[in-house]
Amino acid sequence: MTHTPEPAPQPIQPDSAPPDSDTRRDFIVEIPPALIEALHRARSVAVLTGAGISAESGIPTFRDAQTGLWSRYRPEELATPAAFEQNPRLVWEWYAWRRELISRARPNPGHLALAEMETRLPHFTLITQNVDGLHQRAGSGKAAPLIELHGNIQRVKCYQENRVVDRWQETDDPPPRCPHCGGWLRPDVVWFGEPLPWEALAAAQAAARACEIFFSIGTSALVEPAASLPLLALRRGARLVEINLHETPLTPHATHFLPCAAGAALPALLRQTWSQGG
Ligand SMILES: [Zn+2]
Repeated sequence: MTHTPEPAPQPIQPDSAPPDSDTRRDFIVEIPPALIEALHRARSVAVLTGAGISAESGIPTFRDAQTGLWSRYRPEELATPAAFEQNPRLVWEWYAWRRELISRARPNPGHLALAEMETRLPHFTLITQNVDGLHQRAGSGKAAPLIELHGNIQRVKCYQENRVVDRWQETDDPPPRCPHCGGWLRPDVVWFGEPLPWEALAAAQAAARACEIFFSIGTSALVEPAASLPLLALRRGARLVEINLHETPLTPHATHFLPCAAGAALPALLRQTWSQGG
């Protein structure tokens, strides 16, 4: 089955907006009628989100996060098992600092719209590459599965046993120790050189294969294996919707490309699809 990309809708600037009001958030996004119709018919929808939706909440991307004290380190030097073994304290403190940045951020209208969408569709799966937990904080994962491909920075696990630990004793000499085996504790995120949690990846692939509409939101569609999820959906005949500020390698394959912020596109999609109680 081939897909002919439909012309991307042009954002319309409201008349009342001041001429220099920047951000594409202020634009009214017109959702293609064919997409609205497909959403009304759809039994199964899958969504993949990446760093773009977190950036709209003010969370710097992995690379941009390296400021101040941390600017002399490259993420590749901190987010690896080797780095942790060499200097567990440094790595633990880097994550503590990132956790602090994230705790100050709030879910944006894009996160909230996705949480609402899971209550509107018979089968809905949200797959995220983000580790910040903003989807949960927005209310996602209650009525439908939420798959975290790269883990969650708020969770901690034992480096020895690989099991998630809920409670531990803080220490002056971090990282804290596992209450079960005394091993080091580490953030429950996927580091460079580590495989994705296979159950999460398998569930994401199953959702991509089963869905009728696949949304790729705020992701460069470059990082494997997540990058192959939209293609998996396409091969099964799904409609591919890309929401991104910029074109990506995926854009030529998209049935619909909405060149705008998730925080603008998703609330518009929600409103325009379900406003008539459909
Ligand atoms: Zn342990």
